[in-house]
Amino acid sequence: MSPLKKTLRRLYYRLTASGRPEFHCPICGYRGIFKDKKLYMSDSLVRQYTKCLGCDSKERHRMMHLLFGEFFPNKGDAGKRVLHIAPETFMRPFFRERFETYHTADLFMDDVDFKEDLQKMSFADGSYDCVVVSRVLTCPPDLEACIREMRRILAPGGVAIIAEIYGHEQTVEFGEFVGERHREIGVDAIDLYQKHFGRVDLVMSDRYPEEYQLHNRILENGKVKDDYPELVRIPGVGFKDVVALCRA
Ligand SMILES: [Zn+2]
Repeated sequence: MSPLKKTLRRLYYRLTASGRPEFHCPICGYRGIFKDKKLYMSDSLVRQYTKCLGCDSKERHRMMHLLFGEFFPNKGDAGKRVLHIAPETFMRPFFRERFETYHTADLFMDDVDFKEDLQKMSFADGSYDCVVVSRVLTCPPDLEACIREMRRILAPGGVAIIAEIYGHEQTVEFGEFVGERHREIGVDAIDLYQKHFGRVDLVMSDRYPEEYQLHNRILENGKVKDDYPELVRIPGVGFKDVVALCRA
């Protein structure tokens, strides 16, 4: 989007959305209102204050930005070699500048370095220092195979960075593809991470200042939806964004 269009868009939202809270984007520095987004699987669900009007970042992008700033501030802190699975375009430059070797992989995307099935990857053991997966684990039929594979391709001391939504206590398996998904992830998936990795640290969105707007604020028919697992629930708001740092 051109700078002029961006400026006009900000003005438009500022004029038509008076009374809405203002936030601060840690990525681009924008301060102002953030845009809502309809959730793709439903007409009645809206995600509030999602998108930064400066750079189009969403909660998970801002979260990743802050997390790296805190845990891996310098190039090489998370290793030299990263594999980014199902890479979001928005995040590619972010990771490229932090690692010496930046590879992308996906089974279905065209513009990636490797066509790989996360359940059974062709890489040798210990090939990477860091693996990043964001909102991917709902898709492959065998969840545990994915976790096992991420651990296998990590070198000693490596880290898997897993960003997921935990909408249930127990993972709901569909037993078949529903759209492109095979399940909705539950908090119990974290036990799986712990089973395969030496140490798992959960970084949650309430770790960082509210001004960055990292929480998942879901409205259902105009009302706050907050019937989420205790681990992530924020009463009256929605649920926390969670990134698991799983160390090999
Ligand atoms: Zn921004």
